[in-house]
Amino acid sequence: MNIKANNPALKSWVNVPEGSDFPIQNLPFGIFKTEDSSTRVGVRIGDKVLDLKELFELGYLNNLPFTLTDFEAEFLNSLMKKGKLASRDLRNRISNLLDLTNSELQENTNHVAQVLIDLNQIEMSLPVQIGDYTDFYSSREHATNIGTMIRDPQNALSPNWLYIPVGYHGRSSSIIVSGQSIHRPKGQIKPNPEEPPIYAPCRLLDFELEMAFITFDGKPLGDSISTAEAEEFIFGMCLFNDWSARDIQTWEYVPLGPFLSKNFASSLSAWVVTLDALEPFKLDGPIQDPKVLSYLEFEGQRSYDINLEVSLQPENSEENIICQSNHKYMYWNLSQQLAHHTVNGCNVRCGDLMGSGTISGPTPDSYGSMMELSWRGSKPLQLKDGSERKFIQDNDTVILRGFSSKDGIRVGFGEVITKVLAAK
Ligand code: MN
Repeated sequence: MNIKANNPALKSWVNVPEGSDFPIQNLPFGIFKTEDSSTRVGVRIGDKVLDLKELFELGYLNNLPFTLTDFEAEFLNSLMKKGKLASRDLRNRISNLLDLTNSELQENTNHVAQVLIDLNQIEMSLPVQIGDYTDFYSSREHATNIGTMIRDPQNALSPNWLYIPVGYHGRSSSIIVSGQSIHRPKGQIKPNPEEPPIYAPCRLLDFELEMAFITFDGKPLGDSISTAEAEEFIFGMCLFNDWSARDIQTWEYVPLGPFLSKNFASSLSAWVVTLDALEPFKLDGPIQDPKVLSYLEFEGQRSYDINLEVSLQPENSEENIICQSNHKYMYWNLSQQLAHHTVNGCNVRCGDLMGSGTISGPTPDSYGSMMELSWRGSKPLQLKDGSERKFIQDNDTVILRGFSSKDGIRVGFGEVITKVLAAK
């Protein structure tokens, strides 16, 4: 697919610092406000944000199917309602306006001052009003590690895992944007197997290194989205930290799966990187054996080469990189997940969010949760400040970062950063 905005030869007249996640080839969408402006849609370039509301009012986005309310909005949903082709045309137009060889906006210094805002003057909010949130369990390494620890090392993967992109319905109300702190959850835990459960703050608080994709409107209830069609229904991706209380989870999850151990918070990065911008970073995924059922078959490359990293920062101390993984390790790809989600006729809607599940790689330094990194607490991580961690402590900050890189072009997601405060 030839998407004009992805041309690696493009350069912008807006300065993009070396190593930035946000060159002209990225152009992710988010929601921001300044001290004296309403919330609105922005596009990130370098350390600046392009104000699409102002850009629209100045007449730079004519001949596109958008109205002012799509840009002067609290969420991206109204823009996303216009669909894949409209959002692709919009990104191409913005690319054109920011292109070094196009003087149209570049040479109007008054307009530039009006539409380009410094990052340090803005506050980001949750980009999407999330309708339904589904979390998959699509990393074979993660599922194998968890199965080995809590089930049976000889039968670590459950019998359905290689046939079904396993998932469950999560809760959207507690999805928060990067930068927002969380409190340690409380609930029922059972620290002593011989004693009844107690009500207490979670002791085994964990992050999950995930990515999430966000959908356009799907098909009517009763219809299914095929793997061939799936990408047309996906707007973009974010980093996603799916917080988990392992002790609450272990006690509550039989028979209906996780509940309060997962629904107290999940942290989402602020910039939605479009699936279009990730197109150049596609590759082949893991070989799927046994052969998948026909509705899960797909053509072409559907996996993404996205480097992922988790950093843990204790209070008043430096960051420690505790995990380096990659989205390409996902056994089930986005198209298969969406096809499976809708194979029974379940409808997805504009603004639904699908979590990947924890993305663990093959080596111990690529495991995407403390549960795996510390092997359920049996191998504490040594931090630079001399302390150790089995799970996440109060006042720890967890930071997820991710980027793709190819032919000198880096397209990244920025970060999702969350501090854990003591239980309320
Ligand atoms: Mn999860």
